This record gives sequence, structure tokens and C-alpha cells, in this order.
Amino acid sequence: MWLLLAGRKAITRTMSSSSAASQGSQRRDRFCIVGAGPAGLSQARAFLRAGVPFEVIERHRDVGGIWDLENQGTPMYESARFISSKTLSAFFDFPMPGDYPNYPDHAQVLAYLRSFARVYGLHDHITFDREVAGAAPDGAGWRVTLRGGEERRYRGLVCANGMTWEPHLPDIHGRFDGELRHAVSYRGAEEFRGKRVLILGGGNTGCDIACDAAGAAEAAFLSLRRGYNFIPKHIFGLPADVFAEAMPKLPMRLRQWGFGLLLRLLVGDLGRCGLPKPDHRVFESHPILNTKVLDHLRRGQLTAKPDVRGFEGRKVIFADGSEAEIDLVLLATGYNKSFPFLDRACFEWAGNRPKGFLSVFHPRHDNLFTLGFLDTNAGVYEDFDRLAHLIACHLLDQQHDPARAARFRRKVEGAPPDLSGGIRFVASPRHASYMHHDALRAYLKKLVREMEWPALHPGCFEALRDSGSTPAGSHPGDRRLPHPQ
Ligand SMILES: Cc1cc2nc3c(=O)[nH]c(=O)nc-3n(C[C@H](O)[C@H](O)[C@H](O)COP(=O)(O)OP(=O)(O)OC[C@H]3O[C@@H](n4cnc5c(N)ncnc54)[C@H](O)[C@@H]3O)c2cc1C
Repeated sequence: MWLLLAGRKAITRTMSSSSAASQGSQRRDRFCIVGAGPAGLSQARAFLRAGVPFEVIERHRDVGGIWDLENQGTPMYESARFISSKTLSAFFDFPMPGDYPNYPDHAQVLAYLRSFARVYGLHDHITFDREVAGAAPDGAGWRVTLRGGEERRYRGLVCANGMTWEPHLPDIHGRFDGELRHAVSYRGAEEFRGKRVLILGGGNTGCDIACDAAGAAEAAFLSLRRGYNFIPKHIFGLPADVFAEAMPKLPMRLRQWGFGLLLRLLVGDLGRCGLPKPDHRVFESHPILNTKVLDHLRRGQLTAKPDVRGFEGRKVIFADGSEAEIDLVLLATGYNKSFPFLDRACFEWAGNRPKGFLSVFHPRHDNLFTLGFLDTNAGVYEDFDRLAHLIACHLLDQQHDPARAARFRRKVEGAPPDLSGGIRFVASPRHASYMHHDALRAYLKKLVREMEWPALHPGCFEALRDSGSTPAGSHPGDRRLPHPQ
């Protein structure tokens, strides 16, 4: 209740303070959220509800983050769809429209995000077309420099700038004389016409793009470093994550055994597609939700290859000694987490991952948060909401309940919780800070109970609906839909 009342007061306070603050650079009363993608929007809604003053700075002209193909530098491509189902991928208490397909495409995800921002009146709190170029601690707060030179001082910072903007580039021996680029710049299958194409990397993006290449390129190859489990998007007619959620909660090893067996029955022998056997059990690496790629391999429209050993002119040499003449190598090799506006030394790094409690709370700075940087095996928008809620609760405690704030800081600075869910994830940079979704959700619920913070519950954002000056649009997501649970 205290949270709701605080939230109501705050809507007025935040809006009036934002006009006052526009006259000067002192914004010590409020937080700066960097980015109006899904994570930034989630944090904005949580702050509005909690009454934590804030403003969002977004370098693009609209909300939606990577899902807007016009957002310069986005890794999104025309064939991209959600890989988690609409049923389990929505923000808390804001289901995706009922007429969406099980796996919405990028344009539908963008429309959903825009509808979210409209319904909760978030546009009023976002400054568009401004980029945060630098940020540094400044006394008790943070000094933020915008591109163009303007300096502002904030109480703190929530970095929601996204983790798929800076390509991770592997070091490959030799010189390649064809076209070599990272998948971040890939937009659509037309780029492959008349070319012999190699996609390097077997993650979800690599497999999506390999399917595009199979249909459009003169010859298409997919290079995989290891064997993976390929999960069909639907199992017995249900989206795979909905099916997995409905499975009995047996001990993890039993679940792995049962699901692994089911996969072998549904997907068949991967060896017949030219793929190596998975070198790990199911759930031990990020799920690849793509069996279309297997159809292309079986039909011969795509050829599987092992890891690349090196380049020699137009030739690519693979780990098994085979070679292929290639015109275009597309590196679907993932992304580095980065905060280009912060000094790298601001974080302690484990490889290319910044260390922090739950991927959000900084071990030293009590007013610096990173939302949207978690690696997990399911849709993340509700996790963003739950983590954004923790940030808001902790910030209220800093002002109103210092003893509880100190208790929480001890958790932040203590040993990290085990969120593996009993799974030994494969040893790769991507999985260095990987969390099992069930373990994360269970831990977050326990934490909220332990801290005696109010839990999120259906209807808890109701007072904010249609509170902004931007009228709700006609997108079906704008309608008040019941929470799916
Ligand atoms: C192909 C693909 C498929 C995916 N499928 C799923 C899925 O099925 N389910 C799921 O839950 N997740 C999925 N994801 C994960 C995806 O990362 C999230 O859906 C989501 O977009 C992340 O939100 P974000 O707000 O953290 O980051 P982003 O979407 O990257 O948004 C960050 C925002 O910050 C802005 N920004 C960055 N730097 C600055 C700056 N210095 N100053 C001002 N603004 C800045 C950017 O312009 C952008 O608008 C997928 C990702 C990809 C690439």
C-alpha cells in the first residue's frame, strides 16, 4: 500500500520536477535511466509506481530498443521472431495481445513495447534523440554528459542500454579476401543472393540467419563449434516453454533425462544432418529453438561444418581439414556486454561480463544499477519487472528505512546466490553468469519475502494506466486484458 500511495504522489512530483529541472543541470533528486528499450521501460514503470523520481534518456527517436529496425546499430533482422512464447514473455500484468501468434515477429514485439509505453504514460518521462556519452561518480551522485556536451547531475544511474550492440569478434587465423562481417549488420536474405555464404556460430541468431541463407544463397554453410540440442518451437502443439513449464517439477537430472529422450524422439538423429552429437545434456546451454535449420540441412540446402581453423584468400579451412570457397562470412558470434559511457574500471569483469548481484546491483556503488544484462533460458521481460521492483524498493529504503537498506547491501556484497538450478552449464563465456530461470524466479520471490518488501501482484500497476499525456493508441495491447495466470 505504501508503495502505491508513494507512486500516486510521485506521478505528479516527477512530472513537475522534470519541467523545473529542464532549466538547469542539477537533477540530484532523481535517477537517470539510460535507454528506452524493454528494460528501461520496465524500470520507468517501476519507478513511477514506487515514487522514485527519474527521467529516461534515449538516443533513438522512439521506444523499443533493438526491436526497432530503424534504431541505428540494432542487431535485429527481418526474419527475427521471439524465441520465447508470447504466453511467457510478457511484462508483468501486461499480456501480449491475444491475436498474436505464439512467437511474435519483430514488428509485433515493437508494437507491444510501444503500447506498453503508451498505456503507462512513459513517453512523458523520456527525452528522445539524446545520447548519454559519459557518466562518472560525482560526490553522492553521478555526473552525466550528453552527446553535445551538456552536463547533468543525478542521484544515480540505471544503465538499461542493452547488451546486443557491441559485436564479439573471434580471432581467426589467416586473411580472408571475401566479405567478412558480424551479424549485427545483417538485415535480410537479399544480402545473400548469388553468394556462397558461411554463417559462423550456432546460436539462435546464427540458426535463423542460416535458414535465410539456405533459401537465398548460391550455397550456404553453417559452422558450429560444438554439438547442440535443437528444440522444436512447438511440442505436442504447445509452445516449447509452455510445455516445459507444465512438466512435473522432478529433480533436475530426471527432467534432463526425460526431456532429452523426448527431443531424441521428436528431432531424430542429428548425425544424419551432418551435425555432431551434443557434448552436453539438455538445459546445460542456452536453448536453440530452431528445427527449421535441421530441415534445411536434411534437404541439402545448408551444409553443416565444424569450427573454422583459418582463412586463406577466399578459402575457409575447417577443424576437420575440409575447405570451402566462400564469398561472405557472417559472424554470428554474439555480443560483449558494454557500457561505452562508463569507465570500464567502474566494474569488476569476469571475461566480458560485469560482476554484480543478480546482474543488477553494483558491489560498490549503491546508486548504480544495470538492468537488462542477465543471461537466462526464458523470456526476460517479467524478470526485468521483478528486478526493477527490487531497485525501486531498495531506493525507497535508502531514504525511509536505512537499516533495511543496509541489510540488503550485505546481500549485495556477500557471496552470490546459486542460481544454476542444479545444472552444470557448459564452460563458455556466454554461460559464465548464466542463471536458470526457475531458480532465479524462486530466489527473487524469497528475497522479496525476506526483505519484507511488497510483492508484485496482478493489478499493482493499475493506477498508472493511461496516466500520461500521450493518449493510448489503438494497438490491441492497449486493451485491459486479464493477467494470464
Ligand atoms: C534476435 C533476438 C531475439 C530475441 N528474442 C528474445 C525473446 O524471444 N525473448 C526475450 O525475452 N528476449 C529476447 N531477446 C533479448 C532482447 O535482448 C530483449 O528482448 C530486449 O530487447 C533487451 O532489452 P533492453 O532494454 O535490455 O535492451 P535494448 O533492446 O538493446 O534497448 C536498449 C536501448 O538503449 C538505448 N541506448 C543505448 N545506449 C544509449 C546511450 N548511451 N544513451 C541513450 N540511449 C542509449 C538504445 O537505443 C536502445 O533503445 C532477443 C534478442 C535478439 C537479438
